[in-house]
Amino acid sequence: MIYCDNAATTKMSEGALKVLNERLSDSWGNASSLYLHGQKAKEALEKAREDIAGVIGAAPGEVYFTSGGSEADNQAIRSAAETGKKLGKTHIVSSAFEHHAVLHTLERLKKEGFDVTLVDVHENGLVVPEEVERAIRDDTCLVTVMYANNEIGTIQPVREIGAICRKRKVLFHTDAVQAVGHIPVDVSADNIDLMSASAHKFHGPKGTGFLYARKGIRLTNIIEGGAQEKGKRAGTEDVPSVCAMAEALKESAAGMEKSGEYVRSIRDRLIEGLSRIPHSALNGDADRRLPGNVNFCFEGIEGESLLLLLDDKGIQASSGSACTSGSLDPSHVLLAIGRVHDVAHGSLRLTVGDDITESDADYVIRSVGEVVELLRSFSPIWRDLMAGKKQFIL
Ligand SMILES: *Cc1c(COP(=O)(O)O)cnc(C)c1O
Repeated sequence: MIYCDNAATTKMSEGALKVLNERLSDSWGNASSLYLHGQKAKEALEKAREDIAGVIGAAPGEVYFTSGGSEADNQAIRSAAETGKKLGKTHIVSSAFEHHAVLHTLERLKKEGFDVTLVDVHENGLVVPEEVERAIRDDTCLVTVMYANNEIGTIQPVREIGAICRKRKVLFHTDAVQAVGHIPVDVSADNIDLMSASAHKFHGPKGTGFLYARKGIRLTNIIEGGAQEKGKRAGTEDVPSVCAMAEALKESAAGMEKSGEYVRSIRDRLIEGLSRIPHSALNGDADRRLPGNVNFCFEGIEGESLLLLLDDKGIQASSGSACTSGSLDPSHVLLAIGRVHDVAHGSLRLTVGDDITESDADYVIRSVGEVVELLRSFSPIWRDLMAGKKQFIL
């Protein structure tokens, strides 16, 4: 099996798995208990917090553990919105290709009286900082723009957007779930106030993530209850998973340069190979993209059928995002960068890690070529295109 769906989730690293197992055995105590076993769990939790803070350039007190990226996104946005509302500021700026954890939270806030401006994402999959600045108003309380997109992998000019927000005294949140552990992220240098991350996207366990909140920012509870996480996130901490997340993040940071360079070379090999398929196009900027992300549209085919046939060949990939697959609507990300419906339906996302060899990549290129040709051979749209009854777009 060739796993090319690391943007959906990653396999746990050996190291993280070992830490998870060890902490499940030796640190299962409740971190709020006062006896020794509880205090040992608490110590392990705080060590994990320090390690994670160290990797992202934060202070340990600025890291809050959550159940993952979705919860962190919800809490970050709700917190900024609540603070804003108290000051009479009810306008939020975001972009059209955010993850649904962000977009659906914004939809909810709109129903509660907030006004939301979504800035354009250009054809290359990038948001332009000046356009974010133009969207900011006197009543803007938050700008939320993702660090790297989960479907097309484009890396946003976060540092510049952060600098603008700082200048305009507006909070800046970034969903960095696809970036953390894959490319260097530093909350100070990048001018970030609030940031979401998720362990299972960097070879840690599922159901665990964290929210970075700059010192002094008031968080709103999403989950009420006990006094865990300084009273901002109730619920007995999953110490083993948090420790495994810290281990996975440390490993990712330590191996980032070497692994990133290799994964980039595999990515570029795939991009080059797939570009040779007629009437195909890469989605998103070729350079400003995550090391392992390849996303193509092939005219005249259905992404879903492509995935099933690739699965038969032992290749696991995705079309659109894991969250939108299963729905018939084309990806909102591909529509946001200007792909028309027909073309957006024929998309393929390959997100590779450093376990993929060059010969695996060549097999993927060959297989995609064969499958695209097969699907086109019985596609009515393709027949119309070839007969000149329809115009090629790609
Ligand atoms: C996966 C993902 C999320 C959701 O994270 P979970 O930990 O699965 O809740 C949020 N944003 C982006 C960009 C993602 O890729």
